[in-house]
Amino acid sequence: MKKRVALITGSTSGIGAAIARRFAEAGISVALHSKTSVGAGEALAKALPGASYTRADLADEHDARRLISTVLATHGQLDILVNNAGISEVIPHGDLRAANAEIWQRLYAVNVIAPWVLIAEAERALRGAAERGASGCIINISSHAGVRPKGASIPYAASKAALNHMTKLLAVALAPQIRVNAVAPGLVDTPMTQSWQAARELWRSRAPLGRGAAPEEIADVACMLANSSYLTGEVILADGGLNLT
Ligand code: NAD
Repeated sequence: MKKRVALITGSTSGIGAAIARRFAEAGISVALHSKTSVGAGEALAKALPGASYTRADLADEHDARRLISTVLATHGQLDILVNNAGISEVIPHGDLRAANAEIWQRLYAVNVIAPWVLIAEAERALRGAAERGASGCIINISSHAGVRPKGASIPYAASKAALNHMTKLLAVALAPQIRVNAVAPGLVDTPMTQSWQAARELWRSRAPLGRGAAPEEIADVACMLANSSYLTGEVILADGGLNLT
């Protein structure tokens, strides 16, 4: 089978960088991306065999489309799309005025609309993966906050719930050539959560596994989904069992 190519958005730090390293270990060529950290992206691309790096602001629809065309021009194919880039806002759920319309629009632009634009733009290439021996694969990185009434803020949680529902709708619409799944992490130790002490204490005291995840543990789940030939429409909750308590 020809070597597969994966685009991982937001892959110069945190969960995205761990997925890129894990995929590279599994023999997949990775297309790295970020909004700003060009130096980190170029350095990681040099370190991983067959990797490339592209900068793009996914809040800008044209830039999102350009990202897909650049990856296709560089690698000639696209087999796996990981919609990992995302933004969050920490707002107490009862403070409705603080969660204003600008915040809703900003979070939806990056967490919901950008994955949609990228999937639409990549659809034809992903369908082509089936001809190379494996189904095309989309993996959306959502959140446990999109599954249960939890999370950094209501706009963030609702944006991730929308991404989870989109995952299931597209799993039906794009089958059988393209499989679509999501990973819904709980707390993960990344730059996004560095100051989230209350969440760390919650996981320590309440989650059966007694801690948040390392980015590499979420990358393992993504790699399992990439290597599956039969899973589609699943939202895999990876929260160390917090939802059980
Ligand atoms: P991170 O801040 O390290 O990574 C986020 C990435 O998104 C960055 O690379 C950034 O460049 C990119 N990004 C943000 N806005 C962008 C834009 N406008 N255009 C292009 N790229 C943009 O954070 P992380 O924790 O690794 O988060 C990765 C994903 O995992 C996010 O979707 C996040 O919501 C989700 N998630 C994280 C946690 C956690 O506890 N860390 C939990 C659940 C879900």
